[in-house]
Amino acid sequence: MTKKEIMDENKNLMEKIVALCKRRGFIFPGSEIYGGLANTYDYGPAGTELMRNIRNLWWDFFVSQRDDVVGVEASLVSHRKIWEASGHVAGFADAMVDCKNCQSRFRADHLIEDSLDKKAEGLPMEELDKLIKDNSIKCPKCGKSEWTDVRKFNQLFPVNLGIVQGDDSLAYLRGETAQGMFINFKNVIDSTRVRLPFGIAQNGKSFRNEITPGNSIFRTIEFEQGEIEYFFDPEKTDWEEKYEEWKKLMWEFVTEKLGIQTDNLQWRTHTDEERSFYSKRTEDLEYKFPFGFKELWGLAYRTDYDLSQHQKFSGKDMTILDPETNKRILPHVIEPAVGINRLMLMVLADAYTEEGERVFLKLSPKVAPYKAAVFPLLHNKTELVDKARGIYKDLKKQFNVVWDDRGNIGKRYASQDEIGTPFCITVDFDTLNDGAVTVRDRDTAAQERIKIEELMKFLSEKIND
Ligand code: ATP
Repeated sequence: MTKKEIMDENKNLMEKIVALCKRRGFIFPGSEIYGGLANTYDYGPAGTELMRNIRNLWWDFFVSQRDDVVGVEASLVSHRKIWEASGHVAGFADAMVDCKNCQSRFRADHLIEDSLDKKAEGLPMEELDKLIKDNSIKCPKCGKSEWTDVRKFNQLFPVNLGIVQGDDSLAYLRGETAQGMFINFKNVIDSTRVRLPFGIAQNGKSFRNEITPGNSIFRTIEFEQGEIEYFFDPEKTDWEEKYEEWKKLMWEFVTEKLGIQTDNLQWRTHTDEERSFYSKRTEDLEYKFPFGFKELWGLAYRTDYDLSQHQKFSGKDMTILDPETNKRILPHVIEPAVGINRLMLMVLADAYTEEGERVFLKLSPKVAPYKAAVFPLLHNKTELVDKARGIYKDLKKQFNVVWDDRGNIGKRYASQDEIGTPFCITVDFDTLNDGAVTVRDRDTAAQERIKIEELMKFLSEKIND
């Protein structure tokens, strides 16, 4: 296949995934009835369940199952000084360029990466400008090559509190969850029994005024993050060893908990230009989305940069006392940072399967919105409906199962396949005599008879294996 054919096929695949997500209630365009609002999305019933499962698995794996990580939930609206200290007010800016012909705006590094097949993130503005103009890069919207100079736009969302405008009322919607861990570092130390090394985790919304070329929920202005700041004393803990441990955990989570195919994953080390000046090592775990290998999850050793910045800007002592040596230390951190929505897009893309006419989502039962669907063979036979209702109610006590009695069985299978329900359970006339149901497997379409009293055990084994 030529490069163009591969690109067309991938674009087509992405369009099919987006269409399925809309059709089956995973992802809707934001504010749709008012014509949409760029780079915002809403999540439908299936999408909400899927996202909740991913978020809960993340929390369970990285917080609940560990005894060295605790959680916080910081305010989304936060003091402007936090973002001055963190460097976001001065430096959280993307280099943008506008097409003079059609007025479309693009991130300069992305425009170059998509046109020239070359990493451009972190390059100086003059270099980005030169690359666009020297290579006569064409506008992806209108095809012309008439660009403004590259300019910086800050991505933080300012908010004005109260009715007075000015510095005193200026706050920001948080641009990342990470700062919530740094500003509460001393609060956590003082209110819990944690000892170094330990992590503070947070899961919640962040906001960035992004310009994006589409690609569904990959990059949005409002998104959910899962971040951990893992604090340690660099004199006692070997950072390289810890860093490798976190790499293994991230890989394990993605492959074993979310069930992602390893061929679609790779690690990429940040180039010197893109790595922040205070970071000693940064790597991205990348996933092969239909639009190419892209960052899924960042892992950075950030030294003591963040705590020392907050110490400087707030005037508060951020050091802690080592009870063994009686020395005061400013801990260093390793930060694994992921987007929950981006994990969801990966899960959907990885699960999308076509076999002949059949389209299904091969979701791991752990993340699937519904673990099983229960059907009466016919919706107008009371004895079948009553029996199926009873099974449905029982299973629902333990699993998120769904009921369907519309249309024929073939249509019900097709709709459950498209939302990735691993098992369909049908109550038919034989059930009334033999106390067994037909269980159909999503991936193989194979059917087996299972006794009603064994259903709970069957599902538990399949979901938890
Ligand atoms: P990029 O370079 O792609 O803008 P970043 O390196 O700035 O991302 P981080 O600040 O490290 O991203 O954020 C951590 C994670 O949060 C990313 O790996 C990604 O999964 C997610 N993320 C960041 N920005 C967005 C966004 N606008 N929409 C959805 N997810 C995002």
